[in-house]
Amino acid sequence: MPIMISGIPVEVCKKNIKNMHLYVKPPNGKVTVSAPLTMSDETIERFVRTKASWVKRQMEKFEAQPRQSERKYISGETLYVWGKQYFLQVEYGSENSLVLSGDRAILTVRESSAAGQRDNFIREWYRSILKKEIKRLLPKWEERTGLVCNAWQTKYMTTRWGTCNIQKKKIWLNLQLAKKTPDCLEYVILHELLHFVEKHHNDVFISLMDKYMPYWREIKRALNGQILDFME
Ligand SMILES: [Zn+2]
Repeated sequence: MPIMISGIPVEVCKKNIKNMHLYVKPPNGKVTVSAPLTMSDETIERFVRTKASWVKRQMEKFEAQPRQSERKYISGETLYVWGKQYFLQVEYGSENSLVLSGDRAILTVRESSAAGQRDNFIREWYRSILKKEIKRLLPKWEERTGLVCNAWQTKYMTTRWGTCNIQKKKIWLNLQLAKKTPDCLEYVILHELLHFVEKHHNDVFISLMDKYMPYWREIKRALNGQILDFME
């Protein structure tokens, strides 16, 4: 059970540790305190109370951050596909589908489906269009750089656009790249491929980026300014 401090629920987590630690975690500003196993609830509460104004400041920071709101998948909501904005038009049917037409994204779902089920369907739809583009673009960058990727996967991530395993020469690409302009996907593919020859973001790495994609800085700036999905 969380304890309440100035109206803020604080999760208490007792662990085999020496000191108390207080965390305010993204994306919602959830407050957690970890405390030694033997510490009394009163002592924990007193500790958190002395930090109440710090906690509030941290929570305000999270609230000020731009974040895509949680979706309900109802008409009028917006959907981004390859950097273009579409307005959702929800229709009911027996089979799920998503069709882009002009500036509309026509989503057909079962009327009884929950937001979570619609969420899953859209996620898998993004995965399918992203996979198609990766199949087209990865060989292009492998050819240009002479580097070979042994395996790749799409993955829903909330903190990074791509990641790799250098030993296995494997790349993971964030599903949300299907929402961004296609040059973002190319940039992340190239970035991860180049890690196969240079692990760190050092001068060697940067000169390779410059060589293959002289305009990579603009793309990076645009990507970093964009919002990653809300996720619990
Ligand atoms: Zn990197």
